[in-house]
Amino acid sequence: RAKADGRGAFHFFERAMDEELQARRALELDLRRALTAGEFQLYYQPLYHLGDDRVTGCEALLRWNHPDRGMVSPADFIPIAEEIGLIVQLGEWVLRQACAEAATWPDHVRLAVNLSPAQFRDRALVSTVVSALAVSGLPAQRLELEITESVLLQDNVANMSMLHDLKALGVRISMDDFGTGYSSLSYLRSFPFDKIKIDQTFVRDILEDSDAMAIIKAVLDLGSSLGIVTTAEGVETVEQLNALRDQGCAEIQGYFISRPAPASEIARLLGVEARDLRVPEGRQAVLT
Ligand code: C2E
Ligand code: MG
Ligand code: MG
Ligand code: MG
Repeated sequence: RAKADGRGAFHFFERAMDEELQARRALELDLRRALTAGEFQLYYQPLYHLGDDRVTGCEALLRWNHPDRGMVSPADFIPIAEEIGLIVQLGEWVLRQACAEAATWPDHVRLAVNLSPAQFRDRALVSTVVSALAVSGLPAQRLELEITESVLLQDNVANMSMLHDLKALGVRISMDDFGTGYSSLSYLRSFPFDKIKIDQTFVRDILEDSDAMAIIKAVLDLGSSLGIVTTAEGVETVEQLNALRDQGCAEIQGYFISRPAPASEIARLLGVEARDLRVPEGRQAVLT
């Protein structure tokens, strides 16, 4: 009887694993299809300058508008897109689409785009950025590329030279999720970052946890000593905003200012007229 139960359990797990594998395969196929089907969409979240008291940038955040699943979070599909090698194509679409949209914003509003470590394995990354800027007409100075330290962790030398090439274009390089990695500090020495984005896990606890506050203060100090702009991510309340302002934080981002929103809403927020600028996937935009 015990044996029979055991086998039953085994078959159960086998079936469960099978189903999981099939679900995963289906998701992979679905992802590839989604790009050509135009199911990806960019949301934008404002970066708010506390000194200027205005929005001085927006970060592009990828969304998958799935016909059955609804809006899928990037945390759920970017890791898979990286694994199946789709991230290069997808990342190129993000760059082109975001630059095209940002080119319609006022001149003082920058665009921030996230780059995944896998995109650094593509030698064409620099020319993709050059082309996205040229086609859209967005000046390089208005583009910020956000990387996490995993970019520096993998293949340090090659990725570092790519970062220098990108910086030489005139774009800014930001270190995202600062403080969550193993050696964020040492990476500040190895590359001249333009911006540090303090991870939201520190900001979340800033009022309740004096250690979180101490770390924020230290990072703000560090940023100002190094001449690097420091942005606090995940600001959800006015109390957090005030605490950060008191500490001299220059820039914040978070639900308190605005949740990520579609381009049309962001355009309205920036006081410009929204234009429909869908960059078709797989079609190389031409310079005219
Ligand atoms: P991230 O670059 O650190 O982006 C910030 C994330 O925090 C976003 O999640 C944003 O919606 C969320 N967030 C912003 N303000 C608040 C707040 O006040 N409270 C809370 N709880 N969350 C807030 P999202 O859009 O789900 O993106 C998650 C991550 O996915 C991003 O983290 C980024 O690493 C990655 N990602 C998003 N779009 C792209 C993309 O186009 N390419 C690549 N490679 N990665 C992307
Ligand atoms: Mg980011
Ligand atoms: Mg972040
Ligand atoms: Mg993050």
